[in-house]
Amino acid sequence: MTANTIVIIGAGEAGGQTAITLRQNGYEGRVVLIGDEAYVPYERPPLSKAFLAGEAELERMYMRGADFYPENKIELKLSTRVERIDRAGKSVSLPGGETLAYDKLMIATGGRVRKMTCPGADLTGVHYLRNIDDVLGFRSQVAAGKNIAIVGGGYIGLEVAAVAVKRGCNVTVIEATDRVLSRVTSPEMSAFYTDVHTQAGVKIITAATVTSFGGTGKLTGVVCSTGQTIPADLAIVGIGIIPNVELAQSIGLALDNGIVVNEFAQTTDPDIYSAGDCTNHPNDVLGRRLRLESVPNALSQGKAAALHMLGKPEKYAEVPWFWSDQYDLKLQMTGINDPGDTIVIRGSMAERKFSAC
Ligand SMILES: Cc1cc2nc3c(=O)[nH]c(=O)nc-3n(C[C@H](O)[C@H](O)[C@H](O)COP(=O)(O)OP(=O)(O)OC[C@H]3O[C@@H](n4cnc5c(N)ncnc54)[C@H](O)[C@@H]3O)c2cc1C
Repeated sequence: MTANTIVIIGAGEAGGQTAITLRQNGYEGRVVLIGDEAYVPYERPPLSKAFLAGEAELERMYMRGADFYPENKIELKLSTRVERIDRAGKSVSLPGGETLAYDKLMIATGGRVRKMTCPGADLTGVHYLRNIDDVLGFRSQVAAGKNIAIVGGGYIGLEVAAVAVKRGCNVTVIEATDRVLSRVTSPEMSAFYTDVHTQAGVKIITAATVTSFGGTGKLTGVVCSTGQTIPADLAIVGIGIIPNVELAQSIGLALDNGIVVNEFAQTTDPDIYSAGDCTNHPNDVLGRRLRLESVPNALSQGKAAALHMLGKPEKYAEVPWFWSDQYDLKLQMTGINDPGDTIVIRGSMAERKFSAC
């Protein structure tokens, strides 16, 4: 390894893990970790679970305590957005005109929430959930007696529904397809989770899109394509993310639903790596390329990139896995669900203890 400055754009799980792995493996050069959020790298899963429920302190979500970075000579630049990469000159530009030269660069820019564009989408009371500030912006309003509409019946929407109904809110989930979790799991699992939520008091409306948010200045209701208007003090939208690929695109790196990388998280420029939600990567185990949104993927790709930079290549080729916490249920999922897969249930759905293979 000849590099002496490694710059990491994005201080999320992939970026944080890259910096940590570099130091754990004896890299002694300069490491600069740049993130546009105000927080040290943290884990997002509790945002829709324990942190939203008020059961996890902020610091418990940090990958490493704030002291870890100076102690390990990782230069952390928070609340700082990289605006430009100069690929020929091997540098990145920061606000205020500062330029940072790199030998190796990591782009770990993650994704941003997909936003609603229908009328009323800018009303006070319409929220999204991607980061700590998002949750701090609405958490206190998830309170007993509030009407909460959740747009999108994916993992995040359902996790928020579970927290909100437990807090005594009137919760309605509005899902565009004909079943919840349709993007990620089988009809049998969707039916199971629909039952779990319905029994807990959540209303689930499927095959319905939101046509407008109603209210004057402040949200009062959500109008659906079915003609129903759901009374709402708060709407929380969880309809997926858009990978942040614009920096990579601006310097001509290959893109294909994400930044194209190899099994070592290396982009089409050998000095530039990319890891996490923003990448499209090959997976030998599955025999195809894919873009994943999961913590294990972000961590393993960050690790693979750092090791490759250090000349200790270790292929990233893992079976994807995910989890979701809703009520007292823990869902663990490994592999990718494809439409038309045959499902075999082992155990008892009625007792809520089973595997779906
Ligand atoms: C509410 C919620 C719950 C989740 N629950 C689970 C779960 O239970 N299990 C699971 O496996 N996964 C879960 N995920 C997904 C998981 O958190 C992500 O897959 C993971 O965080 C991806 O990490 P990342 O580093 O690739 O991207 P991110 O975490 O998005 O980090 C990228 C960082 O880069 C910053 N950035 C972007 N552009 C720039 C720039 N130009 N300059 C500086 N900084 C920039 C972003 O602001 C962000 O801080 C959840 C996600 C959310 C939002």
